[in-house]
Amino acid sequence: MPVPPLPDPRLGEPYLLTPGPLTTSYAVKQEMLKDWGSWDDDFRTMTKTMRSRLLALIGDGAPDYDCVPIQGSGSYCVEAMLGSFVPRDGKVLILSNGAYGLRAAQTLDYLGRSCHLLDKGDYLPPRGDEVAAVLADDPAITHVLAIHCETSSGILNPVEEIAQATQAAGRKLLIDSMSAFGALPLDPVKLNCAAFVSSANKCIEGVPGFGFVIARKDEIMASKGNSHSLSLDVHAQWATMEKTGQWRFTPPTHVVAAFLKALDLHEAEGGVPARGARYTRNRDVIVQGMRDLGFETLLADRWLSPIIVTFFCPADPNFSFQAFYEAMKKRGFIIYPGKLTVVDSFRIGVIGQMDEHVMRRVVDAARDALKDMKVSSAAPPAAALEERKKLAA
Ligand SMILES: *Cc1c(COP(=O)(O)O)cnc(C)c1O
Repeated sequence: MPVPPLPDPRLGEPYLLTPGPLTTSYAVKQEMLKDWGSWDDDFRTMTKTMRSRLLALIGDGAPDYDCVPIQGSGSYCVEAMLGSFVPRDGKVLILSNGAYGLRAAQTLDYLGRSCHLLDKGDYLPPRGDEVAAVLADDPAITHVLAIHCETSSGILNPVEEIAQATQAAGRKLLIDSMSAFGALPLDPVKLNCAAFVSSANKCIEGVPGFGFVIARKDEIMASKGNSHSLSLDVHAQWATMEKTGQWRFTPPTHVVAAFLKALDLHEAEGGVPARGARYTRNRDVIVQGMRDLGFETLLADRWLSPIIVTFFCPADPNFSFQAFYEAMKKRGFIIYPGKLTVVDSFRIGVIGQMDEHVMRRVVDAARDALKDMKVSSAAPPAAALEERKKLAA
């Protein structure tokens, strides 16, 4: 596998070991040096190309689906999807095991749409039989929202069994695949998925500024008039793009230009399988290296995504996240705080323009950082391991 072009070392930027914005290639950044007229034919062609190239990533299902880009960050797209596809008298089962599931529930609350929250806490996976049980109990539920990779713990949720349970109960499936699409396979036809969302600055390795909804065409057409919001109306955005080739309001032109380059690099690398393979290798190297230093992962191997990994903070009293963060930053790596409520943790993202060689340097940096801090053991507190036992139960 060819080594992807790494960021230009002359820039001297730290690697972002974060789930996006992430480290992009020099070529992607370079695309942003040119200004584009939003109304101009050249930019309209860019938008059209981008939509069809994203659709191509879902393979055979592409003819039945369409791609609608939406300005803003990923959450704008989640809100657009919920507000557009869930009718005002609809009800959504939210499968939550982290911050993004809870945010989706909060979004529905703002929208005034009913919701049933299945809250599994910080990291336990929602299983197919649980979904089936909730749906059997509550016939008012029209839609199920699954989070593909819950980025707050890094868990890869079992979307196939969730999809099966949803289809068996005759409900519609929506997926937040923000941090997974482009690196993990997602076949909306096989999953019988009405719509899913992702954004520019995750696994496709673009810069932040827009996201996109990929939805069944019949669902888009049926969604006319559902939305609570002018700017987040997927049907209206789609109808205008189909008719004029334009975005309804100022598009993030430079971001789209950069994203097209990111799509070129994605394709040149070998598409979804190759990107997923590089990220998987990144994860395997960091997990093994950190375990060798004595760190422990929150999740058992089966649930570890090739996107971001949560590690427990060491119990050693000399360890502090802030000092560790600074020591890693000094060595060129920006890490990410954890999001667990029970025990302290931190996260290391493995997506973006970096490969296993970079990940080995991350492990070296972590070893040196522990030395700086005079931390003699990276083992987590007993409470962390107790907590983790819940996963096995
Ligand atoms: C990044 C992400 C989002 C969107 O977050 P923004 O900060 O609005 O871009 C939503 N869901 C998941 C699972 C994510 O990883």
